[in-house]
Amino acid sequence: MEWGIISKDTFKTTYELPIKRWDPLSLRTIRTKEFGLRTEYVRHYGHYAYLSPIRGKRPRGFKIVDKKNDYIDCTKKILHEAKDVFTAVTEGKPFYDNEGKKIGDGFTIIITEDEERRDSPFSDKPHRIGRLPDSCKAITLINRYPSMARIIDPDIYNIAVEKLPVHLKLARGINLVSLSRKFYPSFCFNLIPEDVLAGLFLSMKTAILYSVQEAIERDYYDIPVSPFVNIGTKVGGSQPRIHGQVYIDLNMDGHGSRLEAYLEAFKEMGDKCHLCETSHGETDRIVLKTTYWTFYTTGSPVRNYHIRFHPNEHLRRFSQLNINQIQDLAKSLKKIFIGLDNINIDKNRNILFNCCPYGYDADFHMFGDIIPHEIIGGAEMADDMRVARKLPHETAAEIRQGISH
Ligand SMILES: [Zn+2]
Repeated sequence: MEWGIISKDTFKTTYELPIKRWDPLSLRTIRTKEFGLRTEYVRHYGHYAYLSPIRGKRPRGFKIVDKKNDYIDCTKKILHEAKDVFTAVTEGKPFYDNEGKKIGDGFTIIITEDEERRDSPFSDKPHRIGRLPDSCKAITLINRYPSMARIIDPDIYNIAVEKLPVHLKLARGINLVSLSRKFYPSFCFNLIPEDVLAGLFLSMKTAILYSVQEAIERDYYDIPVSPFVNIGTKVGGSQPRIHGQVYIDLNMDGHGSRLEAYLEAFKEMGDKCHLCETSHGETDRIVLKTTYWTFYTTGSPVRNYHIRFHPNEHLRRFSQLNINQIQDLAKSLKKIFIGLDNINIDKNRNILFNCCPYGYDADFHMFGDIIPHEIIGGAEMADDMRVARKLPHETAAEIRQGISH
């Protein structure tokens, strides 16, 4: 199932298929008219899981990481020494570590090189792309170890779907990975040039638009798209190089309960969008405000030091961000991450972008979350609730202090 391709040559058993399974205890039917959804299919919201055995096969780890402390020395030295699985892709040839062990074969499916479109998002032909020019800042690839299937042989589809129990369905979608062309460790935001970070987001944006456009041409519609960045192994970042990911769900069966809550909340606000109108606690929770973005500590944190951010312009999706907004996002994120480092916040962090799905007729103001890793307790697993120990206006003051170091 590498690259989300299920072909006759590689298919062995239905247990290898990626599955999307809705939890029957939280399954609710969407009143489709509300978001202008097409009515041919029943759509749901609730909790669901992607079950994907191939995810467990993805390579992890990195020679220079000190596994015990999960720490990378953020000095310039590391940039020259570092090799990872992506080195084989960006150099267009197999790559070996210092002990002669192969760490990558260089095969890939490349969707965008910077803002230039390359392979089709539905390509079934992994290949070596040749050495990327030094001028290239970032690329976006099809994830080799995805949670969803992109392409399935029609014969296998018939056999596999027949064998699946009724409550399980084949998970369909596109999983993208965006990464810097040169190696920059994600733990070291101080070393990542702003234009490389902006390049990564631009490549990601172009790849999302390309993928969604190609999906729509193949009769997919109502498509939830989730861009995110995992930094550090404790929060799902299995590779040390700075990289982002995008989940494009093509199951056309609805969305998760959290997105449902956001959609309903924005609907209830009507013309009075909270993000357009609020001052975020009379500004004392604002961490950074620029011409294009506002960053603040949320009043209802998911973790301590949870920062929420939004474009000042009322936009629905990540892919609507313009060049100025993306460049400023890169600059601001860098500032904030270095600020968090300065006050010794856990370097394992997630950046999540919450966006309106394609095809939904919903008013939505896209926003992001920066969530540093923290161990959570049992009550917090049981419901959509968190216990935070710090007052948000105090964490904001602390982070502002960290930024101004
Ligand atoms: Zn708004």
